[in-house]
Amino acid sequence: MKTGPGLLFVVSGPSGAGKDTLVDALRARTTRLRYSVSATTRSPRPGEIEGEHYFFLTPEEFERRRDAGDFLEWRVYNGNLYGTPRDYVEWTLADGYDIIMKPEVNGALAIQAAYPAAVLIFLVPDRFSYLRDRLLARRTETNEEIAHRLEVAHEEMKAIRNFDYIIINEQHRSEEAVEDLEAVLHAERFRIHRYEDDLLRDVEHT
Ligand code: 5GP
Repeated sequence: MKTGPGLLFVVSGPSGAGKDTLVDALRARTTRLRYSVSATTRSPRPGEIEGEHYFFLTPEEFERRRDAGDFLEWRVYNGNLYGTPRDYVEWTLADGYDIIMKPEVNGALAIQAAYPAAVLIFLVPDRFSYLRDRLLARRTETNEEIAHRLEVAHEEMKAIRNFDYIIINEQHRSEEAVEDLEAVLHAERFRIHRYEDDLLRDVEHT
C-alpha cells in the first residue's frame, strides 16, 4: 500500500552517544532508508569519504551555500560548521523514500520546526560518564575538544522532552539499540495518519 511522501527520521543526542555506529548498523540492515549526507567544514577523519560521510567544504564554500539558502538547517559545533542540504531531503521525501539523518540536538529541533511530521529519536548512553569513555576511545579529538563536547552534551540532554522516542544505548549491547531503532521505524510506518485519505476510505467501505 503506497503511503505518500517518505518519512523523516532524525536520530540525535549528545556527541559520543553512539549515533554514528547505530545509524551505520541500521543502514546495513535495511535498503529502504536514504541517508542525508551533511556538509561540514571540519577536516575528514581517517577513513571518512567525501560524499559518503560528509561533504567536506571550505568555510567560504559553506557560507556561500548557506547564504544561498541551500541548507535546511545549519549549526556551529565545536568551531566547525555543519548543515543539512535542503534539496536532497525535499526531493527524496517527495519521491516517497524514507530518510534518516543524525544532526546534533539543536539541528534536530530545527528540522522538527521545518518538518513537524519528522520523527525525532533521542539516543542516550546508559550512563553519562560513558560519553567521556566513548569520546576518549575514539581518539580523534584533543582533550580540550572532548571537554568541550561534554559540556555541550550536558546542555543537549535538556532538550529530551522535544523528542518522540528515547533509545538507550547500553554499553556492549548496541545491537539491542539497533533493534529498538528498527522497531520505531517499523511502528511509525504503520501509523494510520500516514496513509492517504482515499486508501483509508477504501478500507472503511469494504
Ligand atoms: P562529528 O564532527 O563528530 O562528525 O559531528 C559533530 C556533531 O555534529 C555530531 O553531534 C553530529 O551529529 C552533528 N552533525 C552532523 N551533521 C550535522 C548537520 O547537518 N546539522 C547539524 N545541526 N549537526 C550535524
